[in-house]
Amino acid sequence: MVAVANNEMNVYESAEARFEIAAEKLNLEEGLYRYLKYPSREVTIYIPALRDSGHLEVFIGYRVLHSDVRGPGKGGIRFDPNVTLDEVRALAAWMTWKCAVVNIPFGGAKGGVICDPSKLSKSELERITRRYTAELSEWFGPERDVPAPDIGTNEQTMAWVMDTYSMHVRQATTAVVTGKPLELGGSQGRKEATGRGLMICCDKAIAKFTMRRETCRVIIQGFGNVGSEAAVLMHKAGYKIVGVADIHGGLYNEKGFDIAKVHKWVYEQRKPLPDFPDGGTKMSAQEILFQPCDILLPAATENQITSQNAHRLQCRILCEGANGPTTSQADPIIEKSGIFVVPDILANAGGVTVSYFEWVQDRQGFFWRESEVNERLQDVMEQSFDEVIRYAETHGVNNRIAAYILAIDRVARALKLRGFYA
Ligand code: NAD
Repeated sequence: MVAVANNEMNVYESAEARFEIAAEKLNLEEGLYRYLKYPSREVTIYIPALRDSGHLEVFIGYRVLHSDVRGPGKGGIRFDPNVTLDEVRALAAWMTWKCAVVNIPFGGAKGGVICDPSKLSKSELERITRRYTAELSEWFGPERDVPAPDIGTNEQTMAWVMDTYSMHVRQATTAVVTGKPLELGGSQGRKEATGRGLMICCDKAIAKFTMRRETCRVIIQGFGNVGSEAAVLMHKAGYKIVGVADIHGGLYNEKGFDIAKVHKWVYEQRKPLPDFPDGGTKMSAQEILFQPCDILLPAATENQITSQNAHRLQCRILCEGANGPTTSQADPIIEKSGIFVVPDILANAGGVTVSYFEWVQDRQGFFWRESEVNERLQDVMEQSFDEVIRYAETHGVNNRIAAYILAIDRVARALKLRGFYA
């Protein structure tokens, strides 16, 4: 039953390889295995959109619902030139497992549009988003499939999704999408949630090794929503951020960065991250991963740590902010080196957890204080972290496979209780 990923860079194969190892360890029944392995539904959309020049272009978009066994589909929308159907499938499956790891009542879904947002105007992005949403107006819904932001999309994109859906169903429906602006039913703490969840995992991991924040050197690859928020929060909390990188390149400085200043440089002064003054040694965005540190936080994109480079890692703890930053073929190398891994489906689950809180608040029409959101997030992340570690110990597997076992077990139990309708 165990399949090895043939094409290391195909994230769907990577996701499948871990699923298969976990399913085998769990002794998952053959029928359930087959059902959970494949997505429930997937759709390709050809999106006609007018460029500002008046020229008509057709963009390709996808939505995949991997599972709605434990609740409505949940998963972001990615705008990126490298989106593929296989990638969206993998991301949708990861959402199923992630929601199950943190035990929130959602299934897994994901969407994407092949486009380069940096080369599109705001109005072009709006037209693409609205047409994509309109095409999926019967697929989306607070009880069916609830999107959120991902690479290349943000609060504004989610506001357009909410408005377009609401126009189609003829009523304001805030709960159809999460990661919205506060003015439109967004949740306090959502923007920082994935970064905060990562910090909570790092706090738990360093406590295991009796390390202290103040002496912990952290490298963060990716300075977008996840990476920059994690950097700001962790720096404030006392961690020493010695490496940062975005798509333009990386900077390493043993002395540590003043992250508030780096944040201003990138987000207020709109300057390229690697040009940050007093920034230490410049290097490529990939090279930053292999510099000395205690915690490595890849928070950019997939397939960064592979069988070709995993032996070069110098961290004690690998806490995965991005989805799929490590290929399945790198897993054994990392395991052998003794690096403590907080796998993506646990580490970056803070985002979807607060998305769940946002959905709950929208449906209640009653909103929580930020401290309340953060406290609940802390509870969920700490409990999930402990459960994954407990599963790793009881099943004698690494943390990643433990997280998959925990997740698959939860989904399989729910599926058995629901039974199979004709
Ligand atoms: P984003 O678009 O806000 O930021 C991406 C960042 O990564 C940018 O700084 C970009 O410059 C950088 N980047 C892109 N390619 C790179 C490369 N090859 N090398 C180095 N840096 C590169 O996206 P995001 O929302 O921060 O998402 C980042 C990752 O986290 C993705 O894998 C996403 O699926 C995952 N994730 C996001 C959330 C969320 O709440 N936004 C939640 C869970 C997981």
